[in-house]
Amino acid sequence: MARVIDGKAIASEVRSEVAGEVRELRESEHRVRLDVVLVGENPASVTYVRNKERDCAEVGIESRVHRFPEDVPQKELARLVESLNEDPEVSGFFVQLPLPPGLDDLALISAIDPAKDVDGLSPASAGRLAVGLPSFQPCTPHGVIQLLKRSGIEVSGREAVVLGRSNLVGKPMAQLFLKENATVTVCHSRTRDLPEAASRADILVAAIGQREMIGVEHVKEGAVVVDVGIHRREGPDGGLIGDVKYGEVEPRASAITPVPGGVGPMTRAMLLHNTLAAARMRA
Ligand code: NDP
Repeated sequence: MARVIDGKAIASEVRSEVAGEVRELRESEHRVRLDVVLVGENPASVTYVRNKERDCAEVGIESRVHRFPEDVPQKELARLVESLNEDPEVSGFFVQLPLPPGLDDLALISAIDPAKDVDGLSPASAGRLAVGLPSFQPCTPHGVIQLLKRSGIEVSGREAVVLGRSNLVGKPMAQLFLKENATVTVCHSRTRDLPEAASRADILVAAIGQREMIGVEHVKEGAVVVDVGIHRREGPDGGLIGDVKYGEVEPRASAITPVPGGVGPMTRAMLLHNTLAAARMRA
């Protein structure tokens, strides 16, 4: 039986640490404020932003949401990014993705000052991470590393296999594993023999966005399995499932993250952590 890595409990630990430090900063007259740019009414984005506002309130971080209709001109968003970069009251901010069609997300994200890029997704932040300069780490892979460390799982020297190569998860995950001295393999849709590559892993991270695709044939006996995927279950119960066939893989793994209650809560907690770090830097 695998140890179940409790992302909810670890995220709550991170949130209470953040809350304590936010209190200290505010007592010394420093502001901690997160701004969000939300364009259109994509239901998932609206929910994510609402959750992030709630998370901020819980730990004492101020938050502001800048809402725009989906036909907002790119220039208006670019002007807002400029003004948030310059506003001394704003500790950090991010643009909620995806943007509606017709808007250039990369151009906007590229304009975010790396000192305020709490999502860690700008090319400047990605480059800084790649060359080992201080930078904000994207929240999901940062959360995965924290889950492993806080569960006492050794990363250094081990074989880490990352399934997925997106800018949001896979690529920064690979960079963070390198930073932690793992030996890293990155797989994607053109990988020839996915089960063979995946089952080399001591630590396997599944971030492919394919519901329950990863089964026992991808997992070495005793591996640590981290499931980043989030999908709504088909049918009336509407619960969440991941990229991993949990029931099948769990008995083979030494530790595993569940969905829900694994990586998801950590992603949210790391945004708060990054916002606090941005406020500290300004202070
Ligand atoms: P993307 O769709 O951007 O990337 C998916 C990656 O998986 C791509 O690199 C793709 O390869 C690869 N891939 C897709 N199908 C296969 C396959 N059959 N075999 C091997 N590789 C495959 O997804 P994201 O990285 O944004 O997200 C991944 C998952 O994580 C999603 O389920 C998403 O909902 C979830 N997620 C969860 C978060 C959380 O907080 N828990 C946060 C962010 C995302 P290629 O590059 O060749 O196309």
